Amino acid sequence: MTQIAFIGLGVMGAPMASNLINAGHDVTCFTRTPEKGRALVEKGARMAGSVAEAVQTAEVVITMLPDSPDVQAVVLGEAGVLAHAARGTLLIDASTIKPETSKAISHAATAQGIRALDAPVSGGEAGAIEGSLSIMVGGDREDFDAALPTLRALGSTIVHVGPSGAGQTVKAANQLMVAGHLQLLAEALVFLDAHSVDLESAINVLGGGLAGSTVLQRKSPNMLKRNFTPGFRIDLHHKDLGIVIDSARAAGVSIPLGAHVAELVASLRAQGAGGLDHSALLLQVEELSGR
Ligand code: NAD
Repeated sequence: MTQIAFIGLGVMGAPMASNLINAGHDVTCFTRTPEKGRALVEKGARMAGSVAEAVQTAEVVITMLPDSPDVQAVVLGEAGVLAHAARGTLLIDASTIKPETSKAISHAATAQGIRALDAPVSGGEAGAIEGSLSIMVGGDREDFDAALPTLRALGSTIVHVGPSGAGQTVKAANQLMVAGHLQLLAEALVFLDAHSVDLESAINVLGGGLAGSTVLQRKSPNMLKRNFTPGFRIDLHHKDLGIVIDSARAAGVSIPLGAHVAELVASLRAQGAGGLDHSALLLQVEELSGR
């Protein structure tokens, strides 16, 4: 049993914290909206009144926050993790943030005697609930080995991909692929519908061929039911594609299709859809097609 502080109980954080409790860990949570922790308290978690209180006795601290500035505030701020966690604590940031922010956090953590890993995840809300996330980890190998018993409660594919920041770079590539695939799924469904093909039958057979994928399997039901409750908010996907574009530019890599999908996501968001699930890309294809 490990004493774990878990910070950020949103769509992903709440089920992840729940799986850590199921695995027998001693979990103390902190989030901005304490009501989000009620179900976890019923399962045996403690709710702390501040980051400082949550982390001071923790062996492992996990953060699952929206964006780079959120992680910077929670980890580096005056009342944050580095100011209050004990030396030797293992900090695992599972949020999707800029690789350079992860590197800066790791640097600052090391100076305080705290070990830091970037460990962004893929698999969505369903993967968080099932404990089947894919976890891409950047940082020192021995810290990765130390984190494994904790990470095994959260995911089924857990891979050390390189030094600090490398986890975020792999996650950026993941988001590039997901965005492109999701856009093409939306286009394929509007195309099939325009030809009066039964969409469920089509999805069934497409799933067994080369176009079959987790994106098709997990996101086509949202599109068919027109249920755009997140899931993964357009706002977050927009943030991730910003990371992809900046990282590609910094490395001199051309991503023409990814850049185009990023524009489409930005445009949908500008029309007020930021709070919808990213499967709402379907709405834009319908609009462009006059349907
Ligand atoms: P979310 O917005 O649902 O949850 C974030 C939580 O962090 C919220 O409960 C918020 O109140 C809390 N929070 C924000 N700032 C805080 C602070 N200063 N102190 C304490 N709590 C704070 O987001 P999510 O969908 O759970 O995503 C979290 C991260 O995981 C993001 O980086 C996202 O890109 C990534 N991610 C999301 C999914 C998904 O399908 N939703 C999948 C993989 C990765």
